[in-house]
Amino acid sequence: MAAVRPKNTKAEIIARKLISSLKLHYISHLKTLPGRPDFYLPDYSIAIFIHGCFWHKHPGCKYASTPKSNLRFWNLKLSGNVQRDRCVIKALRQTGIAVIVIWECELRKGTKKEILGSRQKILRKIQKACKLRTKEVNVRK
Ligand SMILES: [Zn+2]
Repeated sequence: MAAVRPKNTKAEIIARKLISSLKLHYISHLKTLPGRPDFYLPDYSIAIFIHGCFWHKHPGCKYASTPKSNLRFWNLKLSGNVQRDRCVIKALRQTGIAVIVIWECELRKGTKKEILGSRQKILRKIQKACKLRTKEVNVRK
């Protein structure tokens, strides 16, 4: 797993700043949760993963190309990652945890304007998930 999910990547540091800017309480790499999400928001039961486009095969992303040599190895390795991601997300949802996946390219690539735009989008996505969760909790009460 270490090779797949290195800690404190550049994208992760950016994501941490975004989450902090929303004044949300988070826990990083919580070992007791499936897949050890990069961030977990305990107040809202939301897990946030920062996925590297290459390692997690971001669909339709130009950074997700499979290397041309050792094709068999890479295909196995990368599709194994994708499968594991699916299992992890399913396991989390089954325990009532909402899952947000943020792709590395959303945080890092593009012009300054594009990056600002996609960060705004991510912030809205997180805020929306928190709001939804709050509503769900209220309904249950
Ligand atoms: Zn991507």
